[in-house]
Amino acid sequence: MLRILATLCAALFGLVFGSFLNVCLSRWPHAARASSPLTPTARTCDCPLQWWENIPVFSWLALRGRCRTCRALIGWRYTVVEASIAILWAICAWRSLPVSPDAKLMAMLAAWLGLPGALLAFFFGVVLGALFAIPILIAGKQKQAGAVKLPLGTFLCIGGIISALWGHPILATHLSWAGF
Ligand SMILES: [Zn+2]
Repeated sequence: MLRILATLCAALFGLVFGSFLNVCLSRWPHAARASSPLTPTARTCDCPLQWWENIPVFSWLALRGRCRTCRALIGWRYTVVEASIAILWAICAWRSLPVSPDAKLMAMLAAWLGLPGALLAFFFGVVLGALFAIPILIAGKQKQAGAVKLPLGTFLCIGGIISALWGHPILATHLSWAGF
């Protein structure tokens, strides 16, 4: 049960990260536009958005790929990036969390930090784990990479510390970006 919940959470955070990545990819090469990469929009029009229109993938599906107000097309590339990252993160979570202790730790984090704090800890744990794995792959150790056991529990603990110390301002800032 906890494995399924963790996979769903990973997919959820994958959607959020994919949405943020989309904005970064579309804005940062065009710094001359002087638009912030943190502004949550990836449309060609400037129509005002309802809060639910910022929900990755689901809003695109609900709107059938068009702006609710002016019916301008919304590029499918954004949805593909968001869905791809969500699926990739869900697969990683499903494959990396069958071990009973990595589950007990998440339950402990949820009891300590509450569900939002535990999810934030999980997010930071997965990101830090990925950052740890990338240099191993770049260093040409792909052949051994399959045999390397990443200490996910260690990264989850670090994520838990980050969440405990700065979780509230991080969540508050992110929710304000999302318009809540
Ligand atoms: Zn529009």
